[in-house]
Amino acid sequence: MLVRPDTARLFFAAWPAPEIQRSLGALARELERECGGRAVPDRNIHLTLVFLGNIGRDRLSRIESLAAAVTAARFDLSVDRVEYWRHNRIVWAGAEQCPPALRELVAQLGEALAGTGCSAERREYVPHITLLRNARRPPAEGRFPAIPWPVAEFALVESAQHDRVHVYEVLRKWPLVG
Ligand code: ATP
Ligand code: MG
Repeated sequence: MLVRPDTARLFFAAWPAPEIQRSLGALARELERECGGRAVPDRNIHLTLVFLGNIGRDRLSRIESLAAAVTAARFDLSVDRVEYWRHNRIVWAGAEQCPPALRELVAQLGEALAGTGCSAERREYVPHITLLRNARRPPAEGRFPAIPWPVAEFALVESAQHDRVHVYEVLRKWPLVG
């Protein structure tokens, strides 16, 4: 029998439709050939909005009702650049332009969660989609043909590891407005 621990590692994310995960996954495999490391599997590709950390499952319903009250607008994200973080050897995809509605969504989630004691990020939000872990070298070229991603919903996701394999489970989704 699978026994769930009484805490869950949680985050809010924009979760791409399978065809967008495939486009970003193809880019990840291309970058893997160039930079080494390991490409994130298509099904795991996502954009984190707010990271919550380990939260008691008894607080889930409270968090879900706060998320349900968020009223940010849908937006189009043009994923059009790749970057490398030397400190953790991650190659990630991002957007030259961070849509104001994305910033607003992250801000609203942060405000909604402020009273709950869930960890809140104080650094400026940098939208990043992790594509490679353990990269050996940075990509030579930061630009590539843009992958358009219409974001019409956001999700609460549980992060777990089973036999060292990352499993992200979308627990619930909410529509964005418009
Ligand atoms: P791992 O940490 O095992 O390499 P991961 O980072 O994908 O894998 P989690 O650590 O569970 O898995 O993180 C889930 C998501 O939240 C990821 O998108 C991750 O980048 C992001 N995240 C994790 N920790 C933080 C943090 N302290 N601040 C902001 N985002 C975070
Ligand atoms: Mg992590």
